[in-house]
Amino acid sequence: MSTGVANGQGAPARSHAVPLCPSAQPTQDGAFAFGVVGGAPGERRVGYLEGRVPVTDELLAMTGPVKPTHVFRFGAPCAGSGCSHFDGSDCNLATKLVQLMPPVSKSLPACQLRPDCRWWKQEGKAACMRCPVIMTDCYTRSEEQALAANPNTPVPVPVGV
Ligand code: SF4
Repeated sequence: MSTGVANGQGAPARSHAVPLCPSAQPTQDGAFAFGVVGGAPGERRVGYLEGRVPVTDELLAMTGPVKPTHVFRFGAPCAGSGCSHFDGSDCNLATKLVQLMPPVSKSLPACQLRPDCRWWKQEGKAACMRCPVIMTDCYTRSEEQALAANPNTPVPVPVGV
């Protein structure tokens, strides 16, 4: 499917006082698309856009019958205590992704969200090296992804502690 935004025609990155959630819903205040999911089933990866694409009816309609979060990654200001993954200081989703999932990239993806990204600020490159396989919604999740996405999964104790 062509989304028409694969080259990122959106607004240039701007610094945010509130960290940005890199796996937001398009309905959140301030949401924008910054990645597009592509590739064959089982090998799907996020391609990072050069700009932040505003959420519009036209953008959401591009995904047809499929939920926009199956096709796009959206960023938005972190909802903080309004999110089931936030424990008051950390995003436990980011912690669990890093602890439970293997890296899929040896280098940092060219992601323009990085200066504002909560996952990056909290977990550093370990988050970025797993980020390309994170889909906010998908039909098939690995066991590790499902565990990390479940707010009821305990945060693993880091190795060596
Ligand atoms: S974790 Fe890294 S690659 Fe993913 S959105 Fe944040 S800065 Fe970008």
